Amino acid sequence: QPIISIKDVTKEFGENVRAVDNVSFDILEGEFFALLGPSGCGKTTLLRMLAGFEIPTEGQIIIDGLPMEGVNPNRRPVNMVFQSYAVFPHMNVERNVGYGLRVTGVPEAEIKTRAQEALALVKLQDFGKRMPSQLSGGQRQRVALARALVKRPKVLLLDEPLSALDAKLREAMQLELVRLQKTVGITFVIVTHDQDEALSMANRIAVMEKGKVKQIAAPADLYEFPNCRFVADFIGKMNLFQGKVAGVAGNQIQIDLKGITRVTVPYSGAAAGDIAVAVRPEKVQLGRSEPAANRIRLRGRVSEVAYFGNESHIYLENATGVPVSVNLTNAARTTTPNVAIGDELWMSWDPADT
Ligand code: ADP
Ligand code: MG
Repeated sequence: QPIISIKDVTKEFGENVRAVDNVSFDILEGEFFALLGPSGCGKTTLLRMLAGFEIPTEGQIIIDGLPMEGVNPNRRPVNMVFQSYAVFPHMNVERNVGYGLRVTGVPEAEIKTRAQEALALVKLQDFGKRMPSQLSGGQRQRVALARALVKRPKVLLLDEPLSALDAKLREAMQLELVRLQKTVGITFVIVTHDQDEALSMANRIAVMEKGKVKQIAAPADLYEFPNCRFVADFIGKMNLFQGKVAGVAGNQIQIDLKGITRVTVPYSGAAAGDIAVAVRPEKVQLGRSEPAANRIRLRGRVSEVAYFGNESHIYLENATGVPVSVNLTNAARTTTPNVAIGDELWMSWDPADT
């Protein structure tokens, strides 16, 4: 059941900026949906069109079964939490939360009850009389959330809501938001440029690049089955090797990695010309002895080792003896202890993991 339908929506600013470029997809009722992509790819613009702060140049937006053309932001069944979660500094928390109801003439007694409910949802029930200046950044963020929830929207739109918080608090708030969404049961649409944030919170993610939606899928599917190079590179860490198609046979493809080696990997569909071979770091094994022949094998010299406690990232440079014009730089997990810069190692992976 779609609560939001976006149909062929384009937004241009002036002649030259196409912030959102012919985008179509549905968001379902009760979803925790993320718009993910690098800075400038059009996430905020798309969210603002849902909220009604921007008008599409072309296309249509339908929310809860109704076309939104000509419908003002305050008449839409959505509410937005902004990146800079501004709260009114001269009003206490309870009045901040009740503000949106007060301006639409809801009776004072009802405002009080609903503000208390909203504050309880964000675990600030005892903070109603505090002034914003007496709150931490995380608490102010919760006030902004309560202020949006108090109007009981069908959809909550959140634009990078956690970007102003430090890393630890951000992770805690990610869990909080997921809990909150389950509790209230309404649709959340969150904008973020942080792939970890999107992967850990959302049911489904739309990955955007340059105004276009590249792929929409559940987190695990995006990670395991990226449909293009951009998504593969953007979601998680990915080793990418540039190559050329050397031959296709059945559901196998042969790829020349710039004269270094030829690999055979599973592939479906037609392919020719330039192609990238992609493999996740955790699928790659490093070792000093030669890997089994049925694995894809590359030999390299360790150029850098970055230690992270629970894992290390090992960077290899290709050293096959053939003149190499490409830098094979790879992050890989290793079971080989005491890897040092300059070591000659084999990296290998199962072709099926490509
Ligand atoms: P994101 O939120 O993904 O970082 P935005 O939606 O803010 O991206 O911006 C997408 C593109 O549209 C950018 O190139 C940005 O400069 C441009 N843009 C956004 N808002 C405006 C505006 N009001 N006027 C002109 N250009 C804009
Ligand atoms: Mg933005």
